[in-house]
Amino acid sequence: MFNKVLVANRGEIALRVIRACQELGVRTVAVYSDADARAPHVREADEAVHVGPPPSAQSYLLGDRLIEAARRTGAEAIHPGYGFLSEREWFARAVRDAGLVFVGPPAEAIEAMGSKTAARQLAIRAGTPVVPGTTEPLRDADEAAQIAASFGYPVLLKAAAGGGGKGMRVVRSPDEVAGALAAAQREAKNSFGDDAVYVEKYIEGPRHVEIQVLGDQHGNMLHLGERECSVQRRHQKMIEEAPSVAVTPELRARMGAAAVAAARAASYVNAGTCEFLLDRDGNFYFLEMNTRIQVEHPVTELVMGVDLVQWQLRVAAGERLPFAQEDLVPRGWAIECRITSEDPANGFLPSTGRIQYLHLPSGPGVRWDGGIETGSEVGLFYDPMLAKLIVHARTRELAIARMHRALLELTVEGVETSRDFHLRVMEHDDFRRGDISIQWLEQNLAEIV
Ligand code: ADP
Repeated sequence: MFNKVLVANRGEIALRVIRACQELGVRTVAVYSDADARAPHVREADEAVHVGPPPSAQSYLLGDRLIEAARRTGAEAIHPGYGFLSEREWFARAVRDAGLVFVGPPAEAIEAMGSKTAARQLAIRAGTPVVPGTTEPLRDADEAAQIAASFGYPVLLKAAAGGGGKGMRVVRSPDEVAGALAAAQREAKNSFGDDAVYVEKYIEGPRHVEIQVLGDQHGNMLHLGERECSVQRRHQKMIEEAPSVAVTPELRARMGAAAVAAARAASYVNAGTCEFLLDRDGNFYFLEMNTRIQVEHPVTELVMGVDLVQWQLRVAAGERLPFAQEDLVPRGWAIECRITSEDPANGFLPSTGRIQYLHLPSGPGVRWDGGIETGSEVGLFYDPMLAKLIVHARTRELAIARMHRALLELTVEGVETSRDFHLRVMEHDDFRRGDISIQWLEQNLAEIV
Protein backbone atom coordinates (compact mmCIF):
# COMPACT_ATOMS: atom_id res chain seq x y z
CA MET A 1 0.00 0.00 0.00
CA PHE A 2 1.05 3.59 -0.55
CA ASN A 3 2.47 5.64 2.32
CA LYS A 4 0.96 8.89 1.13
CA VAL A 5 -1.71 9.87 -1.40
CA LEU A 6 -2.60 13.30 -2.77
CA VAL A 7 -6.33 13.89 -3.17
CA ALA A 8 -6.82 16.14 -6.21
CA ASN A 9 -10.35 17.26 -5.43
CA ARG A 10 -12.54 19.12 -2.95
CA GLY A 11 -15.90 18.78 -1.17
CA GLU A 12 -17.51 15.53 -0.20
CA ILE A 13 -15.47 13.31 -2.54
CA ALA A 14 -12.16 14.64 -1.17
CA LEU A 15 -13.32 13.75 2.34
CA ARG A 16 -14.55 10.35 1.12
CA VAL A 17 -11.12 9.54 -0.30
CA ILE A 18 -9.35 10.85 2.81
CA ARG A 19 -11.50 8.56 4.98
CA ALA A 20 -10.67 5.57 2.80
CA CYS A 21 -6.96 6.39 3.10
CA GLN A 22 -7.17 6.80 6.86
CA GLU A 23 -8.74 3.38 7.25
CA LEU A 24 -5.96 1.87 5.13
CA GLY A 25 -3.28 3.62 7.19
CA VAL A 26 -2.30 5.88 4.29
CA ARG A 27 -1.25 9.48 4.92
CA THR A 28 -3.11 12.14 2.91
CA VAL A 29 -2.35 15.44 1.20
CA ALA A 30 -5.27 17.75 0.45
CA VAL A 31 -5.21 20.56 -2.11
CA TYR A 32 -7.28 23.70 -1.83
CA SER A 33 -8.14 26.98 -3.50
CA ASP A 34 -8.50 30.27 -1.61
CA ALA A 35 -12.25 29.58 -1.33
CA ASP A 36 -11.58 26.28 0.46
CA ALA A 37 -8.84 27.32 2.90
CA ARG A 38 -11.03 26.36 5.86
CA ALA A 39 -12.87 23.45 4.20
CA PRO A 40 -13.29 20.15 6.09
CA HIS A 41 -11.17 18.19 3.61
CA VAL A 42 -8.23 20.47 4.32
CA ARG A 43 -8.52 19.96 8.05
CA GLU A 44 -9.00 16.19 7.88
CA ALA A 45 -5.98 15.56 5.67
CA ASP A 46 -2.52 15.15 7.21
CA GLU A 47 -1.13 17.93 5.01
CA ALA A 48 -2.59 20.49 2.64
CA VAL A 49 -1.19 22.42 -0.30
CA HIS A 50 -2.66 25.68 -1.58
CA VAL A 51 -3.07 25.54 -5.37
CA GLY A 52 -4.59 28.86 -6.43
CA PRO A 53 -7.53 31.26 -6.47
CA PRO A 54 -11.18 30.08 -6.36
CA PRO A 55 -11.94 29.50 -10.08
CA SER A 56 -11.24 25.81 -10.83
CA ALA A 57 -9.40 26.72 -14.02
CA GLN A 58 -6.82 28.46 -11.81
CA SER A 59 -6.70 25.80 -9.07
CA TYR A 60 -8.25 22.31 -9.17
CA LEU A 61 -7.80 22.01 -12.94
CA LEU A 62 -4.08 22.86 -12.95
CA GLY A 63 -2.67 19.37 -13.46
CA ASP A 64 0.97 20.41 -13.35
CA ARG A 65 0.51 22.22 -10.07
CA LEU A 66 -1.21 19.20 -8.51
CA ILE A 67 1.56 16.88 -9.67
CA GLU A 68 4.14 19.32 -8.32
CA ALA A 69 2.30 19.34 -4.96
CA ALA A 70 2.44 15.53 -4.87
CA ARG A 71 6.16 15.55 -5.61
CA ARG A 72 6.94 18.20 -3.02
CA THR A 73 5.02 16.38 -0.28
CA GLY A 74 6.35 12.94 -1.19
CA ALA A 75 2.96 11.49 -2.17
CA GLU A 76 3.26 8.36 -4.30
CA ALA A 77 -0.18 8.45 -5.84
CA ILE A 78 -2.93 10.88 -6.87
CA HIS A 79 -6.64 10.15 -6.45
CA PRO A 80 -8.63 12.44 -8.78
CA GLY A 81 -12.14 11.88 -7.31
CA TYR A 82 -14.86 12.70 -9.86
CA GLY A 83 -15.22 15.78 -12.05
CA PHE A 84 -12.23 18.12 -12.43
CA LEU A 85 -9.31 16.11 -13.92
CA SER A 86 -10.65 12.64 -13.21
CA GLU A 87 -11.41 11.78 -16.84
CA ARG A 88 -8.68 13.75 -18.57
CA GLU A 89 -6.47 11.25 -20.29
CA TRP A 90 -3.60 13.75 -20.45
CA PHE A 91 -3.64 14.12 -16.66
CA ALA A 92 -3.52 10.35 -16.05
CA ARG A 93 -0.58 10.23 -18.46
CA ALA A 94 1.21 13.19 -16.86
CA VAL A 95 0.83 11.61 -13.41
CA ARG A 96 2.36 8.38 -14.71
CA ASP A 97 5.14 10.25 -16.53
CA ALA A 98 5.99 11.99 -13.26
CA GLY A 99 6.63 8.56 -11.72
CA LEU A 100 3.43 8.67 -9.65
CA VAL A 101 0.44 6.33 -9.61
CA PHE A 102 -2.90 7.57 -10.96
CA VAL A 103 -5.66 6.01 -8.84
CA GLY A 104 -7.92 5.15 -11.76
CA PRO A 105 -7.75 3.41 -15.12
CA PRO A 106 -4.75 3.64 -17.47
CA ALA A 107 -4.70 6.78 -19.65
CA GLU A 108 -5.30 4.56 -22.69
CA ALA A 109 -8.58 3.23 -21.24
CA ILE A 110 -9.77 6.76 -20.41
CA GLU A 111 -9.00 7.76 -23.98
CA ALA A 112 -10.72 4.70 -25.47
CA MET A 113 -13.92 5.52 -23.55
CA GLY A 114 -13.43 9.28 -23.74
CA SER A 115 -15.66 10.06 -26.66
CA LYS A 116 -19.14 8.60 -26.87
CA THR A 117 -18.64 7.63 -30.50
CA ALA A 118 -15.37 5.79 -29.77
CA ALA A 119 -16.97 4.07 -26.78
CA ARG A 120 -19.89 2.96 -28.95
CA GLN A 121 -17.52 1.43 -31.50
CA LEU A 122 -15.67 -0.37 -28.72
CA ALA A 123 -18.91 -1.68 -27.18
CA ILE A 124 -20.09 -2.94 -30.58
CA ARG A 125 -16.81 -4.82 -31.03
CA ALA A 126 -17.25 -6.31 -27.54
CA GLY A 127 -20.75 -7.51 -28.42
CA THR A 128 -22.39 -5.12 -25.94
CA PRO A 129 -25.70 -3.77 -27.28
CA VAL A 130 -25.73 0.00 -27.98
CA VAL A 131 -28.61 2.36 -28.77
CA PRO A 132 -29.20 2.28 -32.55
CA GLY A 133 -27.39 5.24 -34.05
CA THR A 134 -24.22 6.41 -35.75
CA THR A 135 -20.65 5.93 -34.62
CA GLU A 136 -19.28 8.85 -36.62
CA PRO A 137 -19.95 12.58 -36.16
CA LEU A 138 -22.55 14.11 -38.49
CA ARG A 139 -21.39 16.17 -41.45
CA ASP A 140 -24.46 18.37 -41.84
CA ALA A 141 -28.23 18.69 -41.35
CA ASP A 142 -29.01 16.78 -44.55
CA GLU A 143 -27.07 13.77 -43.36
CA ALA A 144 -28.71 14.08 -39.93
CA ALA A 145 -32.18 14.14 -41.50
CA GLN A 146 -31.37 11.13 -43.69
CA ILE A 147 -30.13 9.08 -40.74
CA ALA A 148 -33.01 10.19 -38.52
CA ALA A 149 -35.49 9.05 -41.18
CA SER A 150 -33.82 5.64 -41.37
CA PHE A 151 -34.08 5.09 -37.58
CA GLY A 152 -37.48 6.79 -37.33
CA TYR A 153 -38.32 9.80 -35.14
CA PRO A 154 -37.78 10.77 -32.39
CA VAL A 155 -33.98 10.81 -32.41
CA LEU A 156 -31.46 12.33 -30.04
CA LEU A 157 -28.54 14.46 -31.20
CA LYS A 158 -25.60 14.02 -28.82
CA ALA A 159 -22.21 15.62 -28.41
CA ALA A 160 -19.46 13.00 -28.88
CA ALA A 161 -17.46 14.69 -26.11
CA GLY A 162 -20.61 15.13 -23.99
CA GLY A 163 -21.09 14.97 -20.27
CA GLY A 164 -23.48 16.34 -17.67
CA GLY A 165 -26.36 16.21 -20.14
CA LYS A 166 -24.88 19.01 -22.27
CA GLY A 167 -25.02 19.14 -26.05
CA MET A 168 -28.12 16.92 -26.30
CA ARG A 169 -31.27 17.67 -28.32
CA VAL A 170 -34.36 15.56 -28.92
CA VAL A 171 -35.67 15.84 -32.48
CA ARG A 172 -39.26 14.79 -33.13
CA SER A 173 -39.73 15.74 -36.78
CA PRO A 174 -37.67 16.50 -39.93
CA ASP A 175 -38.26 20.27 -39.72
CA GLU A 176 -36.57 20.39 -36.30
CA VAL A 177 -33.30 18.77 -37.48
CA ALA A 178 -31.36 21.82 -38.69
CA GLY A 179 -32.14 23.98 -35.66
CA ALA A 180 -31.45 21.20 -33.15
CA LEU A 181 -28.17 20.25 -34.82
CA ALA A 182 -26.93 23.85 -34.76
CA ALA A 183 -27.92 24.19 -31.09
CA ALA A 184 -26.28 20.90 -30.07
CA GLN A 185 -23.09 21.79 -31.96
CA ARG A 186 -22.95 25.24 -30.41
CA GLU A 187 -23.45 23.87 -26.89
CA ALA A 188 -20.90 21.10 -27.50
CA LYS A 189 -18.35 23.61 -28.78
CA ASN A 190 -18.89 25.90 -25.79
CA SER A 191 -18.84 23.14 -23.17
CA PHE A 192 -16.21 20.78 -24.55
CA GLY A 193 -14.36 22.70 -27.25
CA ASP A 194 -15.45 20.03 -29.73
CA ASP A 195 -18.57 20.38 -31.87
CA ALA A 196 -18.79 16.74 -33.01
CA VAL A 197 -22.41 15.59 -32.73
CA TYR A 198 -23.84 12.18 -33.62
CA VAL A 199 -27.33 10.71 -33.65
CA GLU A 200 -29.04 8.03 -31.54
CA LYS A 201 -32.55 6.66 -31.61
CA TYR A 202 -34.45 8.38 -28.78
CA ILE A 203 -35.69 5.64 -26.48
CA GLU A 204 -39.09 6.56 -24.96
CA GLY A 205 -39.62 6.04 -21.26
CA PRO A 206 -36.56 3.93 -20.40
CA ARG A 207 -34.80 3.57 -17.07
CA HIS A 208 -31.20 4.58 -16.53
CA VAL A 209 -29.52 1.51 -15.09
CA GLU A 210 -25.74 1.38 -14.72
CA ILE A 211 -23.33 -1.37 -13.81
CA GLN A 212 -20.35 -0.89 -11.49
CA VAL A 213 -17.24 -2.73 -12.59
CA LEU A 214 -13.95 -3.25 -10.79
CA GLY A 215 -10.79 -4.68 -12.27
CA ASP A 216 -7.30 -5.37 -10.95
CA GLN A 217 -3.92 -5.33 -12.67
CA HIS A 218 -3.86 -9.13 -12.84
CA GLY A 219 -6.64 -9.55 -15.39
CA ASN A 220 -9.57 -9.90 -12.99
CA MET A 221 -12.66 -7.91 -13.92
CA LEU A 222 -15.87 -8.17 -11.89
CA HIS A 223 -19.19 -6.36 -11.78
CA LEU A 224 -20.93 -5.23 -8.61
CA GLY A 225 -24.47 -5.14 -9.88
CA GLU A 226 -26.59 -2.21 -10.88
CA ARG A 227 -27.65 1.24 -9.73
CA GLU A 228 -30.98 2.66 -10.81
CA CYS A 229 -30.60 6.37 -11.60
CA SER A 230 -33.85 7.23 -13.39
CA VAL A 231 -34.85 10.17 -11.19
CA GLN A 232 -33.25 12.86 -13.34
CA ARG A 233 -33.76 16.51 -14.11
CA ARG A 234 -32.29 17.79 -17.36
CA HIS A 235 -30.41 14.51 -17.78
CA GLN A 236 -28.81 14.98 -14.33
CA LYS A 237 -29.28 12.39 -11.61
CA MET A 238 -31.01 13.44 -8.40
CA ILE A 239 -31.74 10.16 -6.60
CA GLU A 240 -30.08 6.76 -7.04
CA GLU A 241 -30.74 3.34 -5.64
CA ALA A 242 -29.37 -0.19 -5.62
CA PRO A 243 -30.57 -2.63 -6.65
CA SER A 244 -33.19 -1.70 -9.31
CA VAL A 245 -36.80 -2.87 -9.14
CA ALA A 246 -36.54 -3.59 -12.88
CA VAL A 247 -33.54 -5.92 -12.67
CA THR A 248 -33.90 -9.64 -11.97
CA PRO A 249 -30.87 -11.78 -11.03
CA GLU A 250 -30.91 -13.11 -14.58
CA LEU A 251 -30.90 -9.62 -16.15
CA ARG A 252 -28.23 -8.51 -13.66
CA ALA A 253 -26.01 -11.34 -14.84
CA ARG A 254 -26.53 -10.41 -18.50
CA MET A 255 -26.01 -6.67 -18.01
CA GLY A 256 -23.03 -7.40 -15.77
CA ALA A 257 -21.45 -9.62 -18.42
CA ALA A 258 -22.03 -6.92 -21.07
CA ALA A 259 -20.37 -4.28 -18.86
CA VAL A 260 -17.42 -6.54 -18.10
CA ALA A 261 -16.99 -7.27 -21.83
CA ALA A 262 -16.96 -3.54 -22.66
CA ALA A 263 -14.46 -2.84 -19.87
CA ARG A 264 -12.22 -5.69 -20.99
CA ALA A 265 -12.31 -4.38 -24.56
CA ALA A 266 -10.79 -1.14 -23.25
CA SER A 267 -8.18 -3.03 -21.15
CA TYR A 268 -9.80 -1.39 -18.17
CA VAL A 269 -8.35 -1.48 -14.64
CA ASN A 270 -9.79 0.01 -11.40
CA ALA A 271 -13.39 1.12 -10.75
CA GLY A 272 -15.64 2.19 -13.63
CA THR A 273 -19.29 2.35 -14.59
CA CYS A 274 -21.09 1.29 -17.74
CA GLU A 275 -24.30 3.25 -18.20
CA PHE A 276 -27.27 1.63 -19.94
CA LEU A 277 -30.82 2.49 -20.89
CA LEU A 278 -33.27 -0.28 -20.04
CA ASP A 279 -36.48 -0.16 -22.05
CA ARG A 280 -39.90 -1.40 -20.97
CA ASP A 281 -39.39 -4.71 -22.76
CA GLY A 282 -36.21 -5.47 -20.81
CA ASN A 283 -33.83 -4.58 -23.66
CA PHE A 284 -30.72 -2.75 -22.53
CA TYR A 285 -28.43 -0.45 -24.50
CA PHE A 286 -24.93 0.76 -23.60
CA LEU A 287 -24.69 4.58 -23.38
CA GLU A 288 -21.16 5.26 -22.18
CA MET A 289 -18.54 4.31 -19.65
CA ASN A 290 -17.54 6.65 -16.83
CA THR A 291 -13.89 6.02 -16.13
CA ARG A 292 -13.84 7.19 -12.52
CA ILE A 293 -15.54 6.74 -9.17
CA GLN A 294 -19.09 8.05 -9.43
CA VAL A 295 -21.09 10.30 -7.15
CA GLU A 296 -23.58 7.50 -6.50
CA HIS A 297 -21.01 4.79 -5.63
CA PRO A 298 -22.18 4.53 -1.96
CA VAL A 299 -25.44 2.71 -2.78
CA THR A 300 -23.38 -0.09 -4.32
CA GLU A 301 -21.03 -0.11 -1.33
CA LEU A 302 -23.94 -0.56 1.05
CA VAL A 303 -25.70 -3.40 -0.73
CA MET A 304 -22.47 -5.18 -1.67
CA GLY A 305 -20.54 -4.61 1.54
CA VAL A 306 -17.52 -3.49 -0.48
CA ASP A 307 -15.59 -0.24 0.04
CA LEU A 308 -15.09 0.86 -3.57
CA VAL A 309 -12.71 3.72 -2.81
CA GLN A 310 -10.48 1.50 -0.69
CA TRP A 311 -10.46 -1.01 -3.53
CA GLN A 312 -9.52 1.73 -5.99
CA LEU A 313 -6.46 2.38 -3.85
CA ARG A 314 -5.67 -1.31 -3.31
CA VAL A 315 -5.96 -2.15 -6.99
CA ALA A 316 -3.82 0.88 -7.90
CA ALA A 317 -1.19 -0.40 -5.45
CA GLY A 318 -1.18 -3.74 -7.28
CA GLU A 319 -3.40 -5.86 -5.01
CA ARG A 320 -5.45 -8.70 -6.43
CA LEU A 321 -9.26 -8.71 -6.09
CA PRO A 322 -10.26 -11.45 -3.63
CA PHE A 323 -13.92 -11.68 -4.70
CA ALA A 324 -15.64 -14.29 -6.80
CA GLN A 325 -18.39 -13.00 -9.09
CA GLU A 326 -20.99 -15.35 -7.57
CA ASP A 327 -20.33 -13.92 -4.07
CA LEU A 328 -21.24 -10.39 -5.19
CA VAL A 329 -24.96 -10.47 -4.47
CA PRO A 330 -26.86 -7.33 -3.34
CA ARG A 331 -28.24 -7.44 0.21
CA GLY A 332 -31.10 -5.17 1.19
CA TRP A 333 -31.80 -1.83 -0.46
CA ALA A 334 -29.89 1.46 -0.55
CA ILE A 335 -31.07 4.91 -1.66
CA GLU A 336 -29.08 8.12 -2.12
CA CYS A 337 -30.40 11.69 -2.31
CA ARG A 338 -28.11 14.40 -3.63
CA ILE A 339 -28.45 17.37 -1.30
CA THR A 340 -27.75 20.44 -3.42
CA SER A 341 -27.74 24.16 -2.69
CA GLU A 342 -30.55 24.74 -5.17
CA ASP A 343 -34.05 26.03 -4.59
CA PRO A 344 -36.58 23.54 -6.03
CA ALA A 345 -39.43 26.02 -5.46
CA ASN A 346 -37.59 28.49 -7.64
CA GLY A 347 -36.62 26.48 -10.71
CA PHE A 348 -33.67 24.89 -8.89
CA LEU A 349 -31.90 28.23 -8.86
CA PRO A 350 -28.46 27.92 -7.19
CA SER A 351 -28.48 29.36 -3.67
CA THR A 352 -25.41 30.84 -1.99
CA GLY A 353 -24.50 31.96 1.50
CA ARG A 354 -23.01 30.79 4.76
CA ILE A 355 -24.24 27.62 6.46
CA GLN A 356 -25.61 29.12 9.70
CA TYR A 357 -26.73 25.88 11.23
CA LEU A 358 -26.39 22.23 10.23
CA HIS A 359 -28.01 19.29 11.92
CA LEU A 360 -27.15 15.91 10.43
CA PRO A 361 -29.42 12.87 10.45
CA SER A 362 -28.17 9.77 12.20
CA GLY A 363 -29.48 6.50 13.63
CA PRO A 364 -29.78 3.04 12.06
CA GLY A 365 -28.72 2.65 8.45
CA VAL A 366 -27.95 6.31 7.75
CA ARG A 367 -24.81 7.56 6.01
CA TRP A 368 -23.89 11.18 5.32
CA ASP A 369 -21.14 11.87 2.78
CA GLY A 370 -20.81 15.63 2.96
CA GLY A 371 -18.35 18.43 2.43
CA ILE A 372 -19.98 21.14 4.54
CA GLU A 373 -20.24 22.14 8.19
CA THR A 374 -21.65 25.04 10.17
CA GLY A 375 -19.84 28.15 8.97
CA SER A 376 -19.06 26.83 5.47
CA GLU A 377 -19.39 29.39 2.72
CA VAL A 378 -21.38 28.13 -0.30
CA GLY A 379 -20.46 30.11 -3.40
CA LEU A 380 -20.90 29.78 -7.13
CA PHE A 381 -17.42 28.57 -7.99
CA TYR A 382 -18.14 24.86 -7.65
CA ASP A 383 -20.82 22.24 -8.11
CA PRO A 384 -23.96 22.89 -6.01
CA MET A 385 -23.92 19.38 -4.52
CA LEU A 386 -23.25 19.85 -0.80
CA ALA A 387 -23.61 16.29 0.34
CA LYS A 388 -25.20 12.92 -0.24
CA LEU A 389 -27.63 11.36 2.19
CA ILE A 390 -27.62 7.59 1.85
CA VAL A 391 -29.67 4.96 3.66
CA HIS A 392 -29.61 1.18 3.76
CA ALA A 393 -32.43 -1.10 4.92
CA ARG A 394 -33.67 -4.65 4.42
CA THR A 395 -36.29 -3.83 1.78
CA ARG A 396 -37.01 -0.97 -0.62
CA GLU A 397 -40.10 0.00 1.36
CA LEU A 398 -38.08 0.23 4.57
CA ALA A 399 -35.32 2.16 2.79
CA ILE A 400 -37.85 4.75 1.56
CA ALA A 401 -39.27 5.11 5.09
CA ARG A 402 -35.74 5.45 6.44
CA MET A 403 -34.79 8.09 3.88
CA HIS A 404 -37.96 10.03 4.66
CA ARG A 405 -37.18 9.92 8.37
CA ALA A 406 -33.53 10.94 7.80
CA LEU A 407 -34.52 13.85 5.53
CA LEU A 408 -36.87 15.12 8.24
CA GLU A 409 -33.94 15.04 10.71
CA LEU A 410 -31.74 17.09 8.36
CA THR A 411 -31.64 20.82 8.96
CA VAL A 412 -29.57 23.16 6.81
CA GLU A 413 -29.91 26.86 7.52
CA GLY A 414 -28.29 29.63 5.51
CA VAL A 415 -28.85 28.32 2.00
CA GLU A 416 -31.82 26.80 0.20
CA THR A 417 -31.45 23.07 -0.40
CA SER A 418 -33.13 20.24 -2.28
CA ARG A 419 -34.24 18.57 0.99
CA ASP A 420 -37.97 19.19 0.62
CA PHE A 421 -37.91 18.07 -3.00
CA HIS A 422 -36.49 14.72 -1.87
CA LEU A 423 -39.17 14.40 0.82
CA ARG A 424 -41.89 14.88 -1.79
CA VAL A 425 -40.34 12.22 -4.05
CA MET A 426 -40.16 9.74 -1.15
CA GLU A 427 -43.88 10.39 -0.55
CA HIS A 428 -44.90 10.03 -4.20
CA ASP A 429 -46.94 6.94 -5.11
CA ASP A 430 -45.16 6.38 -8.42
CA PHE A 431 -41.77 6.44 -6.72
CA ARG A 432 -42.99 4.17 -3.93
CA ARG A 433 -44.20 1.66 -6.53
CA GLY A 434 -40.91 1.98 -8.38
CA ASP A 435 -42.90 3.03 -11.43
CA ILE A 436 -40.43 5.56 -12.84
CA SER A 437 -38.50 6.29 -16.01
CA ILE A 438 -35.95 8.94 -16.91
CA GLN A 439 -38.85 11.17 -17.99
CA TRP A 440 -40.86 10.71 -14.79
CA LEU A 441 -39.44 13.61 -12.80
CA GLU A 442 -39.80 16.20 -15.55
CA GLN A 443 -43.36 15.03 -16.20
CA ASN A 444 -44.30 15.33 -12.52
CA LEU A 445 -42.09 18.22 -11.44
CA ALA A 446 -44.88 20.81 -11.16
CA GLU A 447 -46.73 18.60 -8.72
CA ILE A 448 -43.62 17.72 -6.68
CA VAL A 449 -41.98 21.13 -6.08
P1 ADP B 1 -23.98 12.63 -20.37
O1 ADP B 1 -22.62 12.07 -20.56
O2 ADP B 1 -24.12 14.04 -20.86
O3 ADP B 1 -24.52 12.43 -18.98
P2 ADP B 1 -25.43 10.26 -21.30
O4 ADP B 1 -25.17 9.61 -22.59
O5 ADP B 1 -24.91 9.59 -20.08
O6 ADP B 1 -24.91 11.80 -21.36
O7 ADP B 1 -26.99 10.50 -21.14
C1 ADP B 1 -27.51 11.21 -20.06
C2 ADP B 1 -28.99 10.95 -19.92
O8 ADP B 1 -29.69 11.32 -21.13
C3 ADP B 1 -29.33 9.47 -19.72
O9 ADP B 1 -29.26 9.08 -18.38
C4 ADP B 1 -30.75 9.46 -20.26
O10 ADP B 1 -31.61 10.00 -19.28
C5 ADP B 1 -30.72 10.41 -21.42
N1 ADP B 1 -30.43 9.73 -22.71
C6 ADP B 1 -29.23 9.54 -23.27
N2 ADP B 1 -29.31 8.87 -24.44
C7 ADP B 1 -30.62 8.63 -24.65
C8 ADP B 1 -31.38 7.99 -25.70
N3 ADP B 1 -30.80 7.48 -26.78
N4 ADP B 1 -32.72 7.92 -25.56
C9 ADP B 1 -33.35 8.47 -24.48
N5 ADP B 1 -32.70 9.10 -23.48
C10 ADP B 1 -31.36 9.18 -23.54
